[in-house]
Amino acid sequence: MNARYVYMDYNATTPLRPEVRDLMVRTLDVYGNASSMHELGRVARAEIEEARAHVAALIGAQNPSRVYFTSGGSESNNTVFNTMFLIGRNQKRRKIITTSIEHPCVLNSAAHLRDEGFPVVFLPVDRDGRVDMDAYCAELSPDVLLVSVMAANNEIGTIEDIKTIAKLAKEQGALVHTDATQAAGKIPVSVEDWGVDYLTLSCHKIYGPKGIGALYVRERAPIEPLIRGGHQEDGVRAGTYNNLGIMGFGEAARLARAELAEYGQNVSRLRAMLRGLILERVPNVRINGHPTEVLPNTLNVSFPGAEGESILLSLDLEGIEVSTGSACASGSLDPSHVLMAIGLGPELAHGSIRFSLGKYTTEDDVRYVADKLPPIIARLRRMSTVPAEEIIGEIRTEGAHPEGAK
Ligand SMILES: *Cc1c(COP(=O)(O)O)cnc(C)c1O
Repeated sequence: MNARYVYMDYNATTPLRPEVRDLMVRTLDVYGNASSMHELGRVARAEIEEARAHVAALIGAQNPSRVYFTSGGSESNNTVFNTMFLIGRNQKRRKIITTSIEHPCVLNSAAHLRDEGFPVVFLPVDRDGRVDMDAYCAELSPDVLLVSVMAANNEIGTIEDIKTIAKLAKEQGALVHTDATQAAGKIPVSVEDWGVDYLTLSCHKIYGPKGIGALYVRERAPIEPLIRGGHQEDGVRAGTYNNLGIMGFGEAARLARAELAEYGQNVSRLRAMLRGLILERVPNVRINGHPTEVLPNTLNVSFPGAEGESILLSLDLEGIEVSTGSACASGSLDPSHVLMAIGLGPELAHGSIRFSLGKYTTEDDVRYVADKLPPIIARLRRMSTVPAEEIIGEIRTEGAHPEGAK
């Protein structure tokens, strides 16, 4: 056992916060089926509608009834792309525009539509991870059915300009979707201000339970169920209500909204501290992601000459939990598609670590990581055949952006 234990993988998932846990324990016995008309059903229904209002408030949605509960971010994203398949297969307007840095559940949904014969574009991003707006404008036309761009990236934390992206899409009559799974609870999110038609959320990234999420759908935007059955959720998502998950989600959303400013201040101060200490103590590193338009909790760093997986395991032995790229991509030996898309070569991409901080991160945690990390990097670099200076040089060579998802 380690003396210390430091969790810095909040973008993969978050612990259940005690307030949410307490509420869930209290509501474990709210077993009524919210579709039943009797008293027990009505009690469950009232609690579910309260939770829906909290989730709607977190994303600035004026009409809570446009928020549909799903099993999570992956299901919400799949629901949108499945809807595009059903309406696009019989019409000329069927082009899909997304980016090369989306979460795998969007990338693979888009790739599936491409395999089904839809024109699909995976937009390149710049070196900071922002959508290449020239490439975007060049792809816009009256044939575009959907533009899907994530609000903030899970690996490097870069925040996209969804408002401008949506405005340009609307001029062509296209629908707009954003995966706000990483943005919600970290930065202000507003479906009204951004002008999107669909927005995806997941509860386990905001200190709530796993297996619950939501999809916002604007009035009159088309939507087809992925799961057919009873007429729960206006027929958009069948299946008996997940009372416990929904109520936990409502409480997590309520607290996230109430604490947004405080969270942002605390976590960005800690991120700046970690960033400063790493730059001071480890030579030849590269900070990935946009310098200012970045999530306050996410710090992605390349340590050329040290292998990401080895860094991760060495940190794990010290009780420090971080990630290389994304949790969803680990287990695969390919370098992160996001790091490749921002122009890192495979050597640099393979030597990258994502530190994602959160609500329970402390200054002591940051100091502990900043103490343990430098000797680990130095040891791994001594074993490396290519000097760090040589690898970091590769980032300065301009190259074409890698194409697409796969
Ligand atoms: C975690 C995550 C998802 C998937 O959400 P689940 O609820 O785990 O299915 C989707 N998109 C992004 C950006 C994520 O970070």
